Amino acid sequence: MTERSQSSRASAERLLTDEEVWARPALREASLAWWTASLSGEPADYERMERADKAVNAHYAQASTYRQIEQLLETQGLDALTTRRLARLRLAYRSKQAPVEMLDRIAAAEARMQETYSTFRAQFDGHAATDNELEDVLRTTTENDRAEEAWLARKQIGAIVADALRAIAELRNQAARAIGFADFWQSQMLLDELDPDRLLDTLEQVDQQTQAPFRAMKRDLDTHLAHRFGVDRAALRPWHYGDPFFQETPDVFAPPADPLYADKDVVELAAQTYRKLGFRNIDAILARSDLYPRPGKNQHAYAVDIDREGDVRTFLNVERNARWMNTLLHELGHTIYQDGIDRTELPYDLRDDPQGFLNEGFAMFCEQPTVDPSWLTRMVGVPSSEAEPLGPRLAAQYTASLLAFIRWCLTIVHFERSFYADPRQDLNRLWWDLEERYQEVPRPDGRDAPDWASKVHVATAPAYYHKYLYGRLFSAQLTRKLDADVGGWWAGGERSGNYIKHELFMPGARFPWPRLVERVTGRPLGVQALAEAVAWSGAN
Ligand SMILES: [Zn+2]
Repeated sequence: MTERSQSSRASAERLLTDEEVWARPALREASLAWWTASLSGEPADYERMERADKAVNAHYAQASTYRQIEQLLETQGLDALTTRRLARLRLAYRSKQAPVEMLDRIAAAEARMQETYSTFRAQFDGHAATDNELEDVLRTTTENDRAEEAWLARKQIGAIVADALRAIAELRNQAARAIGFADFWQSQMLLDELDPDRLLDTLEQVDQQTQAPFRAMKRDLDTHLAHRFGVDRAALRPWHYGDPFFQETPDVFAPPADPLYADKDVVELAAQTYRKLGFRNIDAILARSDLYPRPGKNQHAYAVDIDREGDVRTFLNVERNARWMNTLLHELGHTIYQDGIDRTELPYDLRDDPQGFLNEGFAMFCEQPTVDPSWLTRMVGVPSSEAEPLGPRLAAQYTASLLAFIRWCLTIVHFERSFYADPRQDLNRLWWDLEERYQEVPRPDGRDAPDWASKVHVATAPAYYHKYLYGRLFSAQLTRKLDADVGGWWAGGERSGNYIKHELFMPGARFPWPRLVERVTGRPLGVQALAEAVAWSGAN
């Protein structure tokens, strides 16, 4: 080894140690502040959260450290693990290298957007209505006019925020160009270790391979909906689909699952499921978590790793119904992933998933027992004579919803890519061109309104949706792998659990994501497993 490479190894070691000394308290504070603010809803707690986030941003904005990381990565003689750690750190720094005043303007505009979204109430039926109320109407009504009115009301926010959103997109593009990217969308992919061309190629394959089953499912669905609303199939419009964006399929292929859980302790059902799969820390995780609704508490559900030392928690608002049964399995899936990452040999900075979609995909994978007849019988106590015919119907409903969701992902991911490539184009038209093409929902006659701006992700979680799609691809591959090797996730019991712990959780972010996907599922990430999982044979 040369003297030079020895000295760069020593510098790398020093830099990574300094980073850890900074990160341990700073990232812990940011996670705790978020947790506390979500629980209390108090302005002072939100201010604490903002301070913690700003401190993190200021740290990664330091140009001298960024340059030092770049130089170190150009030298020879670093081992693979050190190179991997520095490469991840470089991305964290690069994302904050745009001029600070530019980033501040974006943060201020985003905060205003967030506030507009959370305080806006649509005018409906002569009163101010929440999104939940409008979406309940869409799900349950059988009257054409009422469905149309609720749908139009749900889109009102679009016109309020559209101009501000275009302006934020221009700002985000300027900041992305300042650090050498073509536009904001491209920067978000590349900073997240995703190849934009590869993503577009994947979208193309997803489109081709899911079009036929989607059309078959939608024909069956349209028959149900035409009957429900007493109209011809040709008269169906976006408001008939039970969801403001047709991102899931209304419950027409299976009886409602809510009654299954009405008198069950869904938290205990989820805990017992994970105990049987061999995840013995589940009780400690639940004990640290906040499970039930109360005044002031944020309505969302999430999981968080506070310190990368085992303090993993989930934040829920549990009720006894099918939605919360699924959400429990999902969020606890995130927590067992975070809890399972190696903490003895892996350096602090690699105690993470290598890419968010793997964690998301695993959590979605964890929802599957709820359509498994053996789980319904053993865990929920549904007699097997009922569970055997019910399982496939619940599975058909699940597949129908998954098909709708995949096609919706195509709409929104293509929209965002095009939006950031040219924020001044005719976006109202682009949005409906995409909805018609991918989701086959006809635009309302003569409609020219910013319906794209009524989707909260477009406004406040930009360039994120592709992760849901990649997560679905990963989830389908994982399902196929465990079906082949141990007869299924739930059926495999502790063997399933052990496999996942060793192959998926333990390595943390040690490997780049493509390598981890191949290690866990036996194949590179692709579309085939998902395409096979959504075959539509018609529902009874
Ligand atoms: Zn999730």
